[in-house]
Amino acid sequence: MTRQAGSAAPLGSDRRRLEVAAALDASAVVAPAVILLAPSGEVEAVDHPTRIGPTPEARSVDLTDRVVMPGLVNAHAHLDLTLLGPRPFGGDWTTWAGMIRRERPTSPEAIRQAVLAGARLARAGGTAFLGDIAGNRGLPAVEAMRESGLPGVSYVEVFGIGLAEPGGLEFLGSLRDRTAVDAGGVRLGVSPHAPYSCGDRLYEAASRLGLPLATHLAETPEELRFVADAEGPLVELLKQVGAWTDSIRPWRRTPLGRLAAPLGESAAAIVHGNYLDDADLEAISRLAGVRRDGRRLGVVYCARASEYFGHPREGARPHRYRELLELGVPVALGTDSLVALDTPERLSVLDEMRRLARRDAVEPRRLVEMATLHGAELLGIDLREVSLRRGSRPRGLLAVTVARESRDPIGEALRAETSPEWLALAGSS
Ligand SMILES: [Zn+2]
Repeated sequence: MTRQAGSAAPLGSDRRRLEVAAALDASAVVAPAVILLAPSGEVEAVDHPTRIGPTPEARSVDLTDRVVMPGLVNAHAHLDLTLLGPRPFGGDWTTWAGMIRRERPTSPEAIRQAVLAGARLARAGGTAFLGDIAGNRGLPAVEAMRESGLPGVSYVEVFGIGLAEPGGLEFLGSLRDRTAVDAGGVRLGVSPHAPYSCGDRLYEAASRLGLPLATHLAETPEELRFVADAEGPLVELLKQVGAWTDSIRPWRRTPLGRLAAPLGESAAAIVHGNYLDDADLEAISRLAGVRRDGRRLGVVYCARASEYFGHPREGARPHRYRELLELGVPVALGTDSLVALDTPERLSVLDEMRRLARRDAVEPRRLVEMATLHGAELLGIDLREVSLRRGSRPRGLLAVTVARESRDPIGEALRAETSPEWLALAGSS
């Protein structure tokens, strides 16, 4: 009944009764459980077997050694970097970024191959929807994601600060004419890269496009220093690339304080947020209350990537995702690129869930909520596509194999290092 993720075996077209070790989604954890599925793939019920009672007309499927959840949302990836493979960080960001600049694909065909490979690894990791950064004006990456069949948002990345800002603005002015806003299940988005590489006018123009917007923010102490004081190594970087001008003045703010207006107006996905202060948290919780085109502003936490780059640095407080969650802010999970990961065989926020379960003892329901519902809210995906609630139509069900009659199937699934499998539901796409 199950196969390795990628090409799923159909479960058939009749009514199904899935007997599972545990079922979990953002709303509930049930163990053991029965999942009743209509022929259409719609969820009719999820509950403890004794509360479901007998269903003689439904075909029973024994999955009592599987923990089942909806397909996951990876809210931040760089599929175009997939073929670089995992690399050591080395401890120096400038050296690392230089390696990326030298080795990233540049021809449309090389970008296409990388994105298709990344989409395959994402599917293999149980990803139902993905938010990808189409690197450096990477329109071929948008088209490749559409070709891959993996739905979600492809955010076209743009740079431009100081002397480079006019060029970025000009590109943004024509972005909507360069590709379809919505095609192949992939929505066009825009990603001003970061506060040190994009000026205020560029953020405002990106926000005015009315597209989903994602940006790296509050990622490093150097970025905070750049925004507050217009000093430090990022000034040197801008000088090297010829973008620096003395008209770039200190903002005397945090990155979030500086950019709250355009980020709020576009219901942005704020990626990383490794260094947020109390006022930032307050502002984010206020902005997260606003909806735009079915999206909410929220934070994407890339737990493994943050560790890879050594965040939070010594002396800084841990990432504040739990406080954000308590404030009602959606906190989605993202992987960042495969370069920063320890799982060459898949690209999956299941591994972020596992990391947070192990490191911070986050409860399983919360982890699934971050990996499904919150990602869907940030990307603007119909929540019924990532839910097991009655009446939902999940875009695929994931199974993680555990020992039969395990006393702690969910804990076992989160401690495992195996890839998940897809259960395909006839009638769903
Ligand atoms: Zn990123």
